Amino acid sequence: MTVHPLYPTIDTDGRITVASRVLALIFVIILPALGAAGAAVLGVLGMVTLVDLGIFAGMYLVTALGITVGYHRLFTHRAFDTPRPVRWILAIFGCMNAQGAPIVWAAQHRMHHACPDQPGDPHSPHQDRKPGFLGAVMGLWHSHFGHVFNQTAAIEPARYVPDLERDPFLQELEKWSALVVVLGMLLPFGAGWLLSGSWIGGLTGLLWGGWVRLFVATHATAAVNSLCHVFGSRRFAIQDRSGNVGWLAPLTLGESWHHNHHAFPTSARHGLKWWELDPSWIVIRTMERLGLAWNVCLISRERQEQKLAAKA
Ligand SMILES: [Zn+2]
Ligand SMILES: [Zn+2]
Repeated sequence: MTVHPLYPTIDTDGRITVASRVLALIFVIILPALGAAGAAVLGVLGMVTLVDLGIFAGMYLVTALGITVGYHRLFTHRAFDTPRPVRWILAIFGCMNAQGAPIVWAAQHRMHHACPDQPGDPHSPHQDRKPGFLGAVMGLWHSHFGHVFNQTAAIEPARYVPDLERDPFLQELEKWSALVVVLGMLLPFGAGWLLSGSWIGGLTGLLWGGWVRLFVATHATAAVNSLCHVFGSRRFAIQDRSGNVGWLAPLTLGESWHHNHHAFPTSARHGLKWWELDPSWIVIRTMERLGLAWNVCLISRERQEQKLAAKA
């Protein structure tokens, strides 16, 4: 197995490297879960400050928007255009979530859209599903995070994201993504230290804005792949098993309107009804008003109704 010369997280055959899997297990699954458990204990003991919670909320918002607005709607689906510095900022904040850098992430996600819930989908809960309740749970785990350890399809950036490969900044970020994750830990530590005036405040800032944030962000993103392909409502005539899961919308910043998204993947807006809360869309709309986003892709009411009508 030779590590890919441009993408250190995968090898030349498009398989996730053993080192990446071990790091994911330790730093994305185990340590954030321990951090969240520790934070819960502090919460029960009444040892959580408003500064801690503010750092958590701030870090969660900017890093999660890096994934939803940046990695997903901008880089993967090209739902809008934005100035280069804004692309860079979104890419860096997204990278802090330890989900890899944008090129490999977007390549895998375009594969998902190329054959959702079909052979070749990198993380469908339905492919090769074993029967019964246990099979359903195993399918959910595979789509949630198991696909990192039991990869079913090779990741091919040259085939799926040639447009992103031409971006020198994104190419560079593939090499430095681990350092950006560390930066995502140093920021809440520094903020906690500055705002509380003590290094203990720095450590609790790191706990909440680093590890707890990573725990929530990891499982919010993963839930879109797992829960939103098993549960949820459907209203468009599409073949995959995606669903709209409303209660997840605040946490996923609107990404859990996943059935809408599969019906219209290039739409910058996933919450298509006025009551479908979509904070990522609110951010893109605000950017548009400020002149920071243009060519924003929206789906007309007629196009939406055509897909509805096709279902009847
Ligand atoms: Zn999907
Ligand atoms: Zn998508």
